[in-house]
Amino acid sequence: MRSNRYRVLTCPFCGRVPEEPHKIDMRFGETTGGRCECGAVYAFDETGHLLGDAFNDALALLYNEDYDAAQNASEQDYQEVVISFDKRHGWYLQGADADRGGPLDRRSKYLFLKKQKNQKDRKELS
Ligand SMILES: [Zn+2]
Repeated sequence: MRSNRYRVLTCPFCGRVPEEPHKIDMRFGETTGGRCECGAVYAFDETGHLLGDAFNDALALLYNEDYDAAQNASEQDYQEVVISFDKRHGWYLQGADADRGGPLDRRSKYLFLKKQKNQKDRKELS
């Protein structure tokens, strides 16, 4: 896999700069994350090893806290990209370098999700 690195946090789907991470109130507590103009959302995991929680939060954000829709979503419904922050060098890393993971990986992570384009959404309005 190719690696990319950036000096600023960049949306992996469109290349724009998303919102700064901020606290977002949710029905079941709060999370830290943000949104991008292209419809992508991300959850910020400062510890770097709570990606499971970050994933659940990002998924809830992606579906505007429609927890039924989030639960029924399959992996074909969205794309997932992890960006990690290398504090020492000040790089945001995407791709192979970001995914090293493991219990010794303490780099902050940004877990991005975006719905697949060809998905029929807006069904929840009916
Ligand atoms: Zn974007």
